[in-house]
Amino acid sequence: MTKRNRQRYGRKLLAEKLRLLREIGVEEEALSELAREASGDLSSFTFHMADQSGETYRRELKASLTSEQTRILRAIDEALKRIYNGTFGICSRCGAKVQRERLDYVPYAKHCIKCQRSLEDS
Ligand SMILES: [Zn+2]
Repeated sequence: MTKRNRQRYGRKLLAEKLRLLREIGVEEEALSELAREASGDLSSFTFHMADQSGETYRRELKASLTSEQTRILRAIDEALKRIYNGTFGICSRCGAKVQRERLDYVPYAKHCIKCQRSLEDS
C-alpha cells in the first residue's frame, strides 16, 4: 500500500475515532489534538500523542463505554498502530492483502474477508 493511501486510511480512522468519542461525550477540548491530526498531515502524528489522547479518554470514560464502543475504539487504535508500523492492510491471520473495498467499509478491519468469515463460523 502506498504512503498516500495509508495516510488516507489513517485520517479515516482518526475521523472515526473522533466521531465515536464525541458520541460518547468526550469534551471537545480533549479532542482538539486528535481533530487536528484527522484533518491534517499524518506525518506529524506520533505514537506518543496517540497514547496521550488515549489515556485521557480512557480515564474519563471507562465507565460510560459500552463493550461495543470499547471494542471498536481498541480496533481503531490497533489499526492506527498498523498504519505506523507499515502492516496496515495486511491480514493478521493469513498475511494476505485485505481487500480495498473492505477497508473502505471497515477501515479498522484486521482480517481479510476470508479469514473473517472462517473466524465467525468457528
Ligand atoms: Zn486472511
